Amino acid sequence: KAPIARIADKVSGVFVPIVLLIAVVTFSIWMILDKDIGFALTKGVCVLVISCPCALGLATPVAIMVGNGVGARNGILFKNATALEQAGKIKIAAIDKTGTITEGNPSVTDIIPISAEKNELLEIAHALEQNSEHPFAKAILAECELKNISSEKIDFFENLPGAGVKGTYKNVNVFGGNIRLIESQMKPDEKVKESLDKLSKEGKTPLMFAKEGEILGIIAVADVVKADSKDAITKLKQMGIKPVMITGDNINTATVIARQVGIENVIADVLPDGKEQTIRELKKAGIVMMVGDGINDAPALTSADIGTALGAGTDIAIDSADIILTKNSLSDVASAILLSRAVLRNIKENLFWAFCYNVIGIPLAAGLWIPFTGWELSPMFGAAAMSLSSFCVITNEEAINTEAAKKAPARAFKALR
Ligand code: ADP
Ligand code: MG
Repeated sequence: KAPIARIADKVSGVFVPIVLLIAVVTFSIWMILDKDIGFALTKGVCVLVISCPCALGLATPVAIMVGNGVGARNGILFKNATALEQAGKIKIAAIDKTGTITEGNPSVTDIIPISAEKNELLEIAHALEQNSEHPFAKAILAECELKNISSEKIDFFENLPGAGVKGTYKNVNVFGGNIRLIESQMKPDEKVKESLDKLSKEGKTPLMFAKEGEILGIIAVADVVKADSKDAITKLKQMGIKPVMITGDNINTATVIARQVGIENVIADVLPDGKEQTIRELKKAGIVMMVGDGINDAPALTSADIGTALGAGTDIAIDSADIILTKNSLSDVASAILLSRAVLRNIKENLFWAFCYNVIGIPLAAGLWIPFTGWELSPMFGAAAMSLSSFCVITNEEAINTEAAKKAPARAFKALR
């Protein structure tokens, strides 16, 4: 149940006994004033008939159901009602880089052999990356296939999340990954560092491959930013949400990509549990949504107030998230937030009107106006008014559809236009 539904339930819980009490009081007062049991009974029944806890009870579940439906039709899946209600309240959107802001289909741009021959470098990279599911691994494998390079089976393999890969190939310990990983094993010389710097400032991610004591070479990969990432970030900013990039990649590459899409806050070089910690820090400043796709994002997705995973992401990311964007577009983050806001607004509207209806309807049914204006309501009209109020609540849901569609980025909500 959405938190707001619990409030509505509490209100309904108080509402029913109060209405019963009003009906009894109405009956008693008319008995005292009019001494006509038929008339007094009619008024008492009329109060019972017109009062409508259904509108209160319907307001939330129907809005949530419609919100879920509108979302689903547009590729936004809310796993629970809480996510649908909370998404509209977020202040900070922490967004993963690889695969979320960027396409996640990187390709190899540079191959710089150092101590090894180019083919040997690629062979070892192939052996290692064959076992990894990381998008960079796929890029390297594609490059090897293009150059007709293959490798023998690796003897031992280990994934180092947020850092790289390591294993034993032809009885030699080999590893590949980012500078942090290499530096934990050896000290790269100045020339290597210069190459790394140059590559990362071009927005490429340099991956180093090494075996015991020597650096074999660098393979740089680059990924393009998704077509709508920039618009999506602009939209989020307009909505008053602060976007923050969180990535395991190095700061230079991350900054180049962040600038391309208009993100000012970059947190780079974070390990998977570092992402989770960063989220906890960010939560001190407001409600945080994490948007990600990878295994390394899963802890952060769980820890954030709202976790949003891309449908193309890994199963564990999808499992850890509250919202899934099946179209894999960052624009849908804004759409999901707008949809949530529309739903919440709709619920509040419904509750407000249901309240007004009862405040006006109950005194009228009780015959409070009879001594002053002569206005009276027969139970039949009371029943009609009651049904009409439920009907109004349900038809008001259409507003969710139109409001969200009106404000959402052009690409999203196409199905509804
Ligand atoms: P992101 O947060 O951008 O999705 P990750 O946490 O998955 O990045 O990875 C962080 C860094 O670790 C990468 O930028 C890369 O340098 C290195 N890395 C991770 N996996 C691999 C791999 N299979 N091969 C080589 N390097 C890797
Ligand atoms: Mg990622």
